[in-house]
Amino acid sequence: MATPYHDRKISDPAMNPGDEPYFAAAAEGRLLVKTCNACAQAHHYPRTFCPFCWSSDVAWSDATGTGVIYTFSIMRRGASGPYCIAYVTLDEGPVMMTNIVDVDLDDIRIGQRVKAVMKRSENGTAIPMFTLAEHP
Ligand SMILES: [Zn+2]
Repeated sequence: MATPYHDRKISDPAMNPGDEPYFAAAAEGRLLVKTCNACAQAHHYPRTFCPFCWSSDVAWSDATGTGVIYTFSIMRRGASGPYCIAYVTLDEGPVMMTNIVDVDLDDIRIGQRVKAVMKRSENGTAIPMFTLAEHP
């Protein structure tokens, strides 16, 4: 069985105060995470305080953009055709809800290595998503 990937319309992201650096970096093909200067742990989604030690001394840092599929689901209904929602554990530690793109959806497995790729929402905002690091 094969479920070829098709690009679909992606809703524009909610732009919260402080999110600009994240999307500006994404437009350059880079993935940012917030890292705590007090306990050195990274987190996602971005917050103004550290969810581990509650320090407000958090700053953006470049992530490697690589990680592992923790779990995923293929959405087969809907006008946009099938797509894959996944939780990816970044190599920096945070778990990120995202889409797996650019691969046959039937080739996706838990535990696979993935790397970030950018997709554009309807207004052109770059959205970090992930594809398989090694295509099967
Ligand atoms: Zn912390």
